[in-house]
Amino acid sequence: MSRTTVERILVTAPELEPYLSAAREGRFVLPRCRNCTHRQWPPRPRCRTCHLDTFDTVEVRLTGRLYSWTTTHRAPTPTLATATPYTVVVVTLDQPDQPADDPDDIRLVGRWEPGEPAPRLALNDPLAGRVSIDDDGLPVLTWRHRD
Ligand SMILES: [Zn+2]
Repeated sequence: MSRTTVERILVTAPELEPYLSAAREGRFVLPRCRNCTHRQWPPRPRCRTCHLDTFDTVEVRLTGRLYSWTTTHRAPTPTLATATPYTVVVVTLDQPDQPADDPDDIRLVGRWEPGEPAPRLALNDPLAGRVSIDDDGLPVLTWRHRD
C-alpha cells in the first residue's frame, strides 16, 4: 500500500499534523508555545524562543499585508505551462492579539488567487487569504486583495 503525500510528510514532520488537520477544514492554525506563548511559523519540534517542545495551536484569521511578490511568466516546468502567468506572494500576517513584546512577524508564502485578474500589487497592500486542499491532499494558501 502506498502512502499519500500527507502521510509521508507526517512521518518525517509530525509537528505539521495540527496545521494539516486544520487546513483540511479550511482553517489556519499556528503553534503557540505553552511555556512562553511565542507563536512561530513554520511549525518546528521546539520553540525558537525557549526551546521547549510543548505547543497549543491557535486559530488565526488569514489577513495581512503584502511583504513581497513575484510573477512568473515563463513556466519552469512543462506541467506549469498552463498555469502561467502566476504570482507568488509573501504576506506578513496580522496578529492583533500578539503580545507587544513579541517582535517576530509571521510571514506566509502563498499564491495569488487563481482566476483573479492579474494583480496590481504594492507593498503593504491589505490581503485576505484562504486555505484549500490540492489534488495531492496538501494545503495551499491563496491570497487576494481584502475587500
Ligand atoms: Zn517557548
